[in-house]
Amino acid sequence: MTLRKSFSTVTHRMVIAPSSYEEIFEAAVRKSQKIAATSLYRNLGYHKKVEIRRIESANRYVVKRLKDIALTTPFLKELHPFYKELLSVLIDIDSLKKSVSRIYRASSIVNKISRECIRKVRQSKDHNSIIKHRRSYFGRLKSILKKLDKDFKVVRKAQLDMLKLPDVRPEIFTVVVAGPPNVGKSSLIRAITKAKPEVREYPFTTKSLTVGHIKVNSTIVQVLDTPGLLDRPLSERNKIELQAILALKHLADLIIFMFDPTETCGFPLSYQKNVLSEVLNSFRNVPFIYVANKVDVASKNHIQRIQEIISRDFSSNIVLISAKERINLEEVLKLIEKHVKEKEQHQSS
Ligand code: GDP
Repeated sequence: MTLRKSFSTVTHRMVIAPSSYEEIFEAAVRKSQKIAATSLYRNLGYHKKVEIRRIESANRYVVKRLKDIALTTPFLKELHPFYKELLSVLIDIDSLKKSVSRIYRASSIVNKISRECIRKVRQSKDHNSIIKHRRSYFGRLKSILKKLDKDFKVVRKAQLDMLKLPDVRPEIFTVVVAGPPNVGKSSLIRAITKAKPEVREYPFTTKSLTVGHIKVNSTIVQVLDTPGLLDRPLSERNKIELQAILALKHLADLIIFMFDPTETCGFPLSYQKNVLSEVLNSFRNVPFIYVANKVDVASKNHIQRIQEIISRDFSSNIVLISAKERINLEEVLKLIEKHVKEKEQHQSS
């Protein structure tokens, strides 16, 4: 199941758990202190009314805050697999679930205690007893919140991690540009997308995502550059990077794999080919477009070699482009359009 609302709409309405239980407790006490008593305070009935309002006011605040924290934290099972995959590296999903439900349950316990204490205040025969029961409410409230301290911390960390995730749109057609460093991936994205591509950080690596958008007929297509992720053999990856690659699998509808036949990127063709083999392995069910960039400076020999490799080893054609000089970019856009149409047809059939 996927959420219809965008990820950022969901995460930005989260009510963030406090860094410590004391924050909620102290705010509740402040709320109750705002209810001031006048000189009539010595009258038993009036005294009861004031203390009941104090308990009610603190209670309303705490119950709402606890419920909001629990109910606005998205259930991971509702999220798109891209986000689930990324979050599973950062968060212990099981303990998050337990903490959220303990916080929710605590809201009804707090409510119950307030009802009990209010009843006892009402039954009080003297001022001391009224104060005793009001104090007892705050004492019990403090101890319940204190017990939730660890849960607040678990939920807060998860919420802050969610806020840091790259805000991509998993529901729209997504093209991922892959290839070794310096072959010209970001130059291509800049050349084909209209607005300046946005850079989104992954929270757990030094890696970032560059997100650009293009319009193919009337369909918005998202184009992603993933510097440092799909540009080296997988054997050189740590666990977290592998997880980020796994997450990308849920997003990619098409991969553009880019070569630099001039090798001015610093990597020989044999290395570039190895990177392609590994990316192909990781994205088995995703269609690929092969492009050779920098044809503005490539020799005939460079071009022949890359064409041979792609046709011999990968049984495919390669589009010759220059991102810098805008050569043949229309061809790339046409191929993207073809895949967008195919997906739309597939979805409607
Ligand atoms: P990325 O690391 O794959 O994103 O590569 P960049 O887009 O940063 O480009 C790496 C270098 O290649 C930069 O110096 C670009 O100016 C250069 N470059 C990119 N595309 C072309 C091209 O079509 N022709 C030439 N001659 N240089 C290019």
